[in-house]
Amino acid sequence: MEDNSESILLEGKVPIRLIQEPYCKKCLKEVSEGEDFCSFCLSPDFEDFYFNEIKAIGSYHSFDTFFNKIPVNILSELILMLKYGRYEQHRRYAGLLLADGLFQIINQYPNLIENTSYLISPPKYGNEENQCDYIINPLREKLKEYKILVENITEKAVRLRNTENYKKLSREERFEEIEGIHSININDLEGKKVLIIDDVLTTYATVWDLSRALKEKNAGEINVLVAGRSRTFDEWDVPKDLSFDELLIYFSNLDIIRDPNKINEVVIRNFKFLKDKYISCEFSGTRDKYDLYIDFDRKNLEHNCRDFEITRIKNKGFCKHIIKVFLKIKDECGEKYTRKLLRFIYWDLDSWEFELS
Ligand SMILES: [Zn+2]
Ligand SMILES: [Zn+2]
Repeated sequence: MEDNSESILLEGKVPIRLIQEPYCKKCLKEVSEGEDFCSFCLSPDFEDFYFNEIKAIGSYHSFDTFFNKIPVNILSELILMLKYGRYEQHRRYAGLLLADGLFQIINQYPNLIENTSYLISPPKYGNEENQCDYIINPLREKLKEYKILVENITEKAVRLRNTENYKKLSREERFEEIEGIHSININDLEGKKVLIIDDVLTTYATVWDLSRALKEKNAGEINVLVAGRSRTFDEWDVPKDLSFDELLIYFSNLDIIRDPNKINEVVIRNFKFLKDKYISCEFSGTRDKYDLYIDFDRKNLEHNCRDFEITRIKNKGFCKHIIKVFLKIKDECGEKYTRKLLRFIYWDLDSWEFELS
């Protein structure tokens, strides 16, 4: 890891960049240099926020391609893993790391939890799984170690309607659409403090209306703590200074931390590497043979294992074979050079083609 005071480590291992200034002091949205609030938060139509403040671990940003969302940073990968991870163990793993991140933010801003009685996450409509449980449960355990006891009242909250075309609406329309959608099945919150926990904050219409419903039941101060603050860059906009470790964690979709043995076991054969030009090699597994070809001029990566085909092509990630190749290059050419190669791919990932060979 490079020395970087603007990042935190989840569970001592996974580096996450904090949100870069300038941002809106109310909702953390990006603003122009010198501005304290975004135009929306300054709007006179918007009299009452209901909540006190919003904090987040970092930026959530996924780049939309025709087929898919490509997460641009490690935090966004974790959030997508929490929301859409195919296996429960992956969602659980993501929740555990994110809970540690939220816990660190609470340490930075103790008012979020001081004298707070309740945690709540926005309820789902009907029987849909609420992935925030994977964050809230380990977070409550961590707080308990510090003798901070908070009750999770998410089950007392109800979402009265589904909002299907919600994502197509403008920010203003979302607030109109969502007003009144939440209700809390508790008669009197007795002026007690509440902390709302969510995975991603997009327009904050949801936490705004949930706060309204809580206030209706006499909640005291309400604060909001989310894993990712969604940012709205239209272009592929990524940090330029990622370290070798960050790049490897990012490209492996965290496999290198979660399951390093899987990568260690890979055996590389017929390795050919022309610096800055191409990488070509084969892998012999127990059952099948695979090959890999990376062309740095054409920005093209071809490979054919099943994991690559099913899960990596669509988010432009690396399977264990490709990660192992970059570890080999690191052994032969050093970390600095390998980092340069990985950055070359990362900076331009939107124009790289990942294909099945
Ligand atoms: Zn704002
Ligand atoms: Zn592979």
